[in-house]
Amino acid sequence: MGKSFAVIGDPIDHSLSPNIHNAAFRELDLDSSYIAYRIPKGELKEGIEGLKQIKINGFNVTIPHKIEMMKYLDKIDESCSIIGAVNTVVNNDGILKGYNTDMDGFLDPFRKKEINISNAKILLLGAGGAARAIVAGFAKEKAKKITIANRTLQNADKLSEFAKKLGLESETKTINEIEGTLEDYDIIVNATSIGLKNEQSPISFEGLKEKTVVYDIVYMPMNTDFIKKAKEKKATIIFGYEMLLGQAVRAFEIWHDREAPYNAMKRALLGGF
Ligand code: NDP
Repeated sequence: MGKSFAVIGDPIDHSLSPNIHNAAFRELDLDSSYIAYRIPKGELKEGIEGLKQIKINGFNVTIPHKIEMMKYLDKIDESCSIIGAVNTVVNNDGILKGYNTDMDGFLDPFRKKEINISNAKILLLGAGGAARAIVAGFAKEKAKKITIANRTLQNADKLSEFAKKLGLESETKTINEIEGTLEDYDIIVNATSIGLKNEQSPISFEGLKEKTVVYDIVYMPMNTDFIKKAKEKKATIIFGYEMLLGQAVRAFEIWHDREAPYNAMKRALLGGF
């Protein structure tokens, strides 16, 4: 029998995940399907019961359920327990096991481009859910130090405690405080949601060293103001879609236990822009 997969969240209409996974199924001739399924906030429990009834083989979890979904898991992979949020679930005869592929997805472009993280000085803008997976990634890859800048300093402080617990040296700043200090960093990441609505970049990039790695995890639009300004300064760019692709590839490998067709998935994703 064919296998079925879904992404659950709300809003979910514009999710690119069905395109990416269905392209992989076509490429490998797999008898599987992947749909977007809207589950509003407050209806997660019922939604999951429904998915179990139709014997879904696996699903991705996105906003607003990534943290609440932890409650409904029977088994928790380490990737998931460290970050405290789940984005990929395997259903094994009603036993749900949770994974978090955001960290691997985030790190994937560094591996592909052979960009070294160990000993790098990092500036991370933002301290939300995605930033937590990113901090775990930098800790795993043994970055030298991370500076976390966020609108709400209290959230940055909390994330900084998490970084220290993982053995990563860390400090916090407000976004205003980092203007004029960009030459101190090797890698700069935007993990705020600034850019999604075409807002201006949160930093001016004044004084950026050429070849500094600038990574925007916002993927829609592809060329955010943050990316455009970094390009003007001849930065090495990593796009948000590369993380999105990386997490989908990793989820595919967990569900299907085989190598994902990266190029077919990338073509499908880029066709969605
Ligand atoms: P959260 O809501 O958990 O965090 C949002 C972050 O953005 C917080 O740090 C918040 O600061 C900050 N922020 C929001 N609005 C503003 C503003 N107007 N000015 C300054 N700071 C602001 O979201 P997530 O962490 O889940 O996601 C963040 C972004 O990353 C989203 O755009 C999402 O689409 C993208 N994303 C991309 C992925 C990919 O695969 N490429 C994967 C996951 C997320 P404060 O603490 O002050 O509220």
